[in-house]
Amino acid sequence: MVETRENYIDGEWVATETGETLDVTNPADPSEVIAQYQRSTAADASTAVEAAADAQSEWAATPGPERGRILRATGALLEERKSELTDLLIAEEGKARPEAAGEVQRAIDIFYYFATKAADLGGTVKGASAPSTNLYVRTEPVGVAALITPWNYPIAIPAWKLAPALAAGNSVVLKPASQAPGVVIEIAAALDEAGLPDGVLNVVTGPGSEVGTEFIENDGTDLVSFTGSSQVGQLVYDQATDAGKRVQTELGGKNPTVVSASADPAEAADIVASGGFGTTGQSCTACSRAIVHEDVYDDFVAELVEQAETIDIGPGDDHEMGPQVSDDELDSTLEYIDVAQSEGATLATGGGVPEGLDDGYFVEPTVFTDVEPDMRIAQEEVFGPVVAVLQVEDFEEGLDVANGVEYGLSASIVTDDHTEANRFVEEAEAGVVKVNEKTTGLELHVPFGGFKRSSSETWREQGDAGLDFYTIEKTVYDNY
Ligand code: NAD
Repeated sequence: MVETRENYIDGEWVATETGETLDVTNPADPSEVIAQYQRSTAADASTAVEAAADAQSEWAATPGPERGRILRATGALLEERKSELTDLLIAEEGKARPEAAGEVQRAIDIFYYFATKAADLGGTVKGASAPSTNLYVRTEPVGVAALITPWNYPIAIPAWKLAPALAAGNSVVLKPASQAPGVVIEIAAALDEAGLPDGVLNVVTGPGSEVGTEFIENDGTDLVSFTGSSQVGQLVYDQATDAGKRVQTELGGKNPTVVSASADPAEAADIVASGGFGTTGQSCTACSRAIVHEDVYDDFVAELVEQAETIDIGPGDDHEMGPQVSDDELDSTLEYIDVAQSEGATLATGGGVPEGLDDGYFVEPTVFTDVEPDMRIAQEEVFGPVVAVLQVEDFEEGLDVANGVEYGLSASIVTDDHTEANRFVEEAEAGVVKVNEKTTGLELHVPFGGFKRSSSETWREQGDAGLDFYTIEKTVYDNY
C-alpha cells in the first residue's frame, strides 16, 4: 500500500482542498510508486502563508539560544534517522548510496551549524559621538521567507535555506520539488518533534507555477529564496522584485575544468570524471567542460574515456552511478547528445542507454571530443553525465574559453604552475574557484553562489553570509 503524505501547515498534517495527489516514482524503476504527495493549489499555499505570518513575531521574540536548541534537536533527530532518510532519497531521486548518505549528513551538519549561529546573532555595539548615548545595531529577522527548492539535492538545499531562516527568527513557507519531496516532509516532521511552534514552518507540495507563484506574490511573504533552473529563476526573480520582495536566486552552471600543460593527464581525468559523472552529472556545479592543453589532450582523453567506461551503472542502492531523476531529464540529455553529434562533435564514448537498463532513466557516462566553444554542448547546461572536451593552445585561450559562457557558478584548474593557478583564481568568472580539485563539493561554512547567469548575485548562501539574506539591521541611538 502506497503511503499518502500530507502538507504541513500550522503544525498540522493536512490534505489539499481538492483532494488531488501526485505520485513520486523510483527513477531506477518507474513502475514502483514510492509515495503520493499533495497536488496543492494556490489556496493551500495562501493558507500556509497566513499561518507563517501569524507565527512570525512570536518566533522572532523567542531567544536565539532557544531557537538554536530546536535546530540542534532537529539535527539529532535527522541523525537518528539517517539510514531511512538515505533510503528515501535514493528511492525518490536515484542517487548512489554514498552520495545520498553524504547529502543527508550535510543536512544534519547544517542544522548543527546554524543551531550554534542562532545564539550568536543579536548585533553589535559601537562608540557614540555624543556622551550618554548607547549606539548599537540590532540584527533582526526579515519576516516570512518563501523557499523554493530543486530536486537534485532534495535534502541539503532545503536545509541550507531553512536552517539559517529559522535561526534568524523568520517563519517559513517551503515548496520542495515535486520529483523528490519526501525528505523535506521528514525535515518538517523532525522540526515538529523537536518543538518548533505551530506555523513557524509550513511545507506545501505541488506545482511550482501554482504553489510557488502564490508564495512569491502573496503579500504575506517578505523574502524569496529560489534554487533551480536559470529559466524559472529569471521568472521568479522578476515576479519577486515586481512584488517588492527581497530575492535571491541560485541557478544553473556550465562549469569548466582547465587542464594545463603541466597537469598529470591521469590525475586531471580523475578530477574531471568525478566532477562530471558524480551524482549522474545532476549537480549545478558538475564539470561539463574539460578545457585541455594540446600537449596533454590525447593522453587526457584516453584516461577520461577509460574512466567513463568503467563506471558501474545501475540502481543507486548498490551501484556507483544511479539514473537521471525523470524521463524528462533523460530525454533532455539524449537530445543534447544528438545535437552535439549533429554540430560535429565526436562521440568518444557513451551516448546511449546502457544495455539491460532501459526500464529506468539510465544513461551512459558520455564524453565528446573535438568540441568547439560555440557549440551548444559547450554553452548550455546539459544536467546529465556528459563531458565536452575542448582543445586549447595555451593558458590564455583556456581562460577565455572557460569564461566564454553565460554561466559562472564553479570553475577549476589542474596545474603544477603556481602563476597559472593564481591567474585562474583572479580571472575566472565564477562564484567558486578551485585549484587541483573537482568543480563539485562544497564546504558548508563558506559562502556559495554564482556569477553571471548562475545567480541573481544579490546574496550568498551558506556560512555566515547565509544569514545575511534572512536578517535586517536596525541602528539604535539610545540617549540616557
Ligand atoms: P526547476 O527550475 O525546474 O525547479 C526548481 C523549483 O522551482 C521546483 O520546486 C519547481 O517546482 C519550482 N518551480 C517551477 N516552476 C515555477 C514557477 N513558475 N514559479 C515558482 N516556482 C517554480 O529546477 P530543477 O529541475 O528542480 O533543478 C535543476 C536546476 O537547478 C539546474 O538548472 C541546476 O543547475 C539548478 N541548481 C542550482 C543550484 C545552485 O545553488 N546554483 C543548486 C542545485 C540546482
